Amino acid sequence: MSQSVCILGATGSIGQSTLKILAQHSQEYSVFAVTAQSRLAELVEICKQYRPRFAVVPSSKVDELRQLLVAEQLADIEILADEAGLIAVASHSDVDVVMAAIVGAAGLLPTLAAVKAGKRVLLANKEALVMSGDIMMQAALDHHATLLPVDSEHNAIFQCLPQNYFQAERNGQPKLGVSNILLTASGGPFLNHSLEQLHSVTPAQACKHPNWSMGQKISVDSATLMNKGLELIEACHLFSIEEHFVTVVVHPQSIIHSMVQYVDGSTLAQMGNPDMCTPIAHALAWPERIQTHVPALNVFTHSQLNFVEPDTTRFPALQLARQAMKVGGTTPAILNAANEIAVDAFLKQKIGFMQIPAIVEQTLNQLAHQAANNLDVILQADAEARAIAQQLVTNKGS
Ligand code: NAD
Ligand code: MG
Repeated sequence: MSQSVCILGATGSIGQSTLKILAQHSQEYSVFAVTAQSRLAELVEICKQYRPRFAVVPSSKVDELRQLLVAEQLADIEILADEAGLIAVASHSDVDVVMAAIVGAAGLLPTLAAVKAGKRVLLANKEALVMSGDIMMQAALDHHATLLPVDSEHNAIFQCLPQNYFQAERNGQPKLGVSNILLTASGGPFLNHSLEQLHSVTPAQACKHPNWSMGQKISVDSATLMNKGLELIEACHLFSIEEHFVTVVVHPQSIIHSMVQYVDGSTLAQMGNPDMCTPIAHALAWPERIQTHVPALNVFTHSQLNFVEPDTTRFPALQLARQAMKVGGTTPAILNAANEIAVDAFLKQKIGFMQIPAIVEQTLNQLAHQAANNLDVILQADAEARAIAQQLVTNKGS
């Protein structure tokens, strides 16, 4: 029987890579629902090729989508709207697999709905886990969801961990002989920029990643190293370890996607060409393996692999995230919300590049953290942090 897949964020970079793999394995997988916030023409193209049962867009775009679908003789595709529509398709009883590939906090409730419905959830939307942490991990346990990491580093770590790692107790300590995680970072497009140069980089430069082709927000996060900070928090939750068991390693070639160290002196690494189709296919088929178009790594063309420590003076975001994880509670949600506002402002050229971590830090300083024992507290912290960060953007921009 073929598996029915819901793709949250189908028009994005991860969504498109997912669709590419599904096209290659159309006997095994069918597309049940696709969602998009914008780019309706692309969504209609996806509908034409994959014939989903549902398409979800903001309510302001429903009429336009309906007209476009009718024009393509696709009127049988049901259109749902807004967050309620996203939640409905993510938790639909006919869905087996949910690809969580919406960017940012907007993906939290739909992703959590998929987890609570006990789905196989392929997690690309790291911000959702950064915000909700223990709540999402506990929901996965309670509802027997299979939460599989798509983020290339976490997927690599998952592949290097012992198979029964996830059956062991979740107590913040590495287990089954694991001693440490080496989370690799490419260092982004500004790895060798001076602090002075960093002050004047443009959004276009920030979005031009040396190794990966990604959406705008994660590209800027990669340039500030906030992406690695969010990933550090993501790793702590996924693998149930305290932050000091995660070491960030800058590895500019992006060939090793992360490593796991063991008490006997072993270090296991997962390697491959930098293409998100590999971790997506891994999460989709796990514990089996399916083919992708990604060519096998030719080690002879990669004669040098380098590893350096991150520079936290030029890239303070990493330390802010590590500190947020240490403090815990609503702090990671505050960090994430302030970052989303600051990145958006940078992309709109309202603030400079180095103001991104500055705004995140000031927001963290202005907002007291609380225990994050329920979702409402987290959503409220998210809203308050957005308001503060927005105010800081307005002040800086003037
Ligand atoms: P993207 O910007 O290319 O795509 C985002 C998708 O989410 C689009 O389909 C968009 O329409 C939808 N979306 C945006 N805002 C929305 C909203 N408010 N409500 C509903 N839908 C909305 O982003 P991407 O690069 O594909 O990244 C998606 C997620 O995957 C992010 O969380 C990112 O951190 C993570 N991720 C991406 C990569 C990568 O290589 N692109 C790698 C690892 C993790
Ligand atoms: Mg990553």
